[in-house]
Amino acid sequence: MTEVLAQPAPVDLLLTAGTVITMNQAGDVFQDGAVAVRGDRIAAVGPRMEVARCCQARQTLAYPQDIILPGLINAHTHAAMTCFRGLADDLPLETWLNDHIFPAERLICRDLVYWGTRLAIAEMILSGTTTFCDMYLFADAVAQAAREIGMRAVVGEVLYDFPSTNYGEPANGLKFTETLLRTWQDDPLIQVAVQPHAVYTCSPDLLQRCGDLAQRYEARLIIHLAETQKEVADCQKRYGATPVGHLYNLGLLTDRLLADHGVVLSPADQELLAAQGVGVVHCPESNMKLASGVAPVVALLQLGVPVALGTDGCASNNNLDMLQEMDTAAKLHKVFHLDPTVLPATSVLALATRHGAQVLNLQDRLGSLEPGKQADIVVINGDQPHLLPLYNPYSQLVYAAGGGDVRTVLIAGRLVLQDRRLLTMDVAEAMARVNEYAQRLGTFACQENGSEARRLQKAGGR
Ligand SMILES: [Zn+2]
Repeated sequence: MTEVLAQPAPVDLLLTAGTVITMNQAGDVFQDGAVAVRGDRIAAVGPRMEVARCCQARQTLAYPQDIILPGLINAHTHAAMTCFRGLADDLPLETWLNDHIFPAERLICRDLVYWGTRLAIAEMILSGTTTFCDMYLFADAVAQAAREIGMRAVVGEVLYDFPSTNYGEPANGLKFTETLLRTWQDDPLIQVAVQPHAVYTCSPDLLQRCGDLAQRYEARLIIHLAETQKEVADCQKRYGATPVGHLYNLGLLTDRLLADHGVVLSPADQELLAAQGVGVVHCPESNMKLASGVAPVVALLQLGVPVALGTDGCASNNNLDMLQEMDTAAKLHKVFHLDPTVLPATSVLALATRHGAQVLNLQDRLGSLEPGKQADIVVINGDQPHLLPLYNPYSQLVYAAGGGDVRTVLIAGRLVLQDRRLLTMDVAEAMARVNEYAQRLGTFACQENGSEARRLQKAGGR
């Protein structure tokens, strides 16, 4: 990992730690390790003595008890839904969506998305996420919030057949997305994806136009796919195919496609995803909370499908903590298969790092700590009662650590969190602004809840 140089090369920052997990192909872990950063990239990784010998560091941060790992990649979010955290829980999916989330989303404006996203980014950085892939309205505000803070993001405007609060008539959605694609084309931190919502909200024509646009700009095509049994049954009835089969028939099932959720997949669907090189984002906590089911992640991985990990939005999780999400993912599949050997901690950390980079087509820049890759780095405070002793750093991260244990974070070589202080944003301001919106949304939700209670009462009385 380290280069042998005659003269020590100057680097901007040297991070040293008790343990460095690289997540490279070889699975290298260095005890008493170090990472050297030059500009936005990793210059060297390896044993501390070797890295220190080859690097002349302008600044050194030493974390002798801590664990360094690659920045986590949250591959599916609706970041601004932090504004809806806890607004409506413990309800059937249809009621939750139609009576609570969709009505609340009618109040959405660009400003709400901007502040909701800023709050989400604070939460994500504080829990070790350095890249998020977001689908929402006003995606330009999501990109702006991320860029201002120095967060890495893949953003996309949610597209469907009905009018949007942002772009108005459906026909404008693709134009809006194309403008986004052009605006952010060469940005080092922000990428734009084409994001049709789902097969039940998008006509075949819209889906195909989305596919064409994504191809023209060499962008990712991202969609919620096979999330519930109802979605699959409705798709069968309407198009005579499963959602996966439907996209295959439309010529959209390619390695450009990223499928969020992938819960209800037949064996034939799974093989088709594998054969076509489609990536899947697993969102276990959202699937559990909305009782959607258990995605066949173990089978997908066996078939060679790249599976990443996502939290989904805050209305269905209700946090953006990827360390917690890893813990849930590992345990969910063990109990589901009644087999403690499935999805071991090393594999789960790969979902949140290497695989995340792969499904976003950023594997040449992200997902592991290797020379030449972007310096997106997380330091976990290992000097705490619940993180001692340290036998296996993967186990410690997946089963014992939580987002609150993140000490320091770098994105593209820039310190964005140091000793739990956010350096590139005013978090108090974001909290205050979201609370202001929440007061208005809360009043609105109370009225909605009242009518929902009356409706349920009526239904119960029948
Ligand atoms: Zn989602």
